[in-house]
Amino acid sequence: MTTTMPPDPAAKKSARARAVKPKRKRLSPAEAARIEALFARFEAAEPAPATELAYRNPYTLVVAVALSAQATDKSVNKATERLFAVADTPQAMIELGEARLTEAIKTIGLYRTKAKNVIALSRILVDRYGGEVPLSREALQALPGVGRKTASVVLNELGVEPAIAVDTHVFRVSHRLKLSDAPTPEGVEQDLMARVPERWRTRAHHWLILHGRYVCVARRPKCEVCPVADLCPSRALYLGM
Ligand code: SF4
Repeated sequence: MTTTMPPDPAAKKSARARAVKPKRKRLSPAEAARIEALFARFEAAEPAPATELAYRNPYTLVVAVALSAQATDKSVNKATERLFAVADTPQAMIELGEARLTEAIKTIGLYRTKAKNVIALSRILVDRYGGEVPLSREALQALPGVGRKTASVVLNELGVEPAIAVDTHVFRVSHRLKLSDAPTPEGVEQDLMARVPERWRTRAHHWLILHGRYVCVARRPKCEVCPVADLCPSRALYLGM
């Protein structure tokens, strides 16, 4: 099969691709102690949190995370279960082809664009990286459909670099727990990288996402059963105290 190389967007993306460096922010001793207690509580409840996305190798992780943008992990897993059984390498995905890939993921939002991106990124992986996933932020973010959030999830999940990807759950929970008041995901990520103690940074993304998904839900947070309620400045707001 002839492969067409899309223009290399690396230069365009390189400014955004730089890792978010933890900014020094002075926390009062009380605030630092509160944050310590918060993550100690999360750790006690779930020492080894993991992604709920199903994947088989670094390539299927990249694909699954890219497909999960504006879609639930559950819906992605449902579609990828059969997809990855027939295509779990970039070459196999190219051979499957865009039409069949589109059909396989049609239950996921934005599936047409995502199918195009997955085929395009698979071609780049085959042509430039020998079918392997490059484990650097810049190279990952240069792939079609792979943004900062996807790269962070992949790098963190594979243990390459601690990163706290900020999705809608992490953004909301971070605000409610007053871990950040930044108005953008990038700003929240910077605050989290600066404030979450290093030993918890790799797991922080999972804890915050799971907490947002199951307890601190968007419309009506379950403050009455929240394990960190006594450490949360927003609890009074939702419990009407
Ligand atoms: S107390 Fe309520 S608002 Fe605060 S983290 Fe828990 S569920 Fe969310």
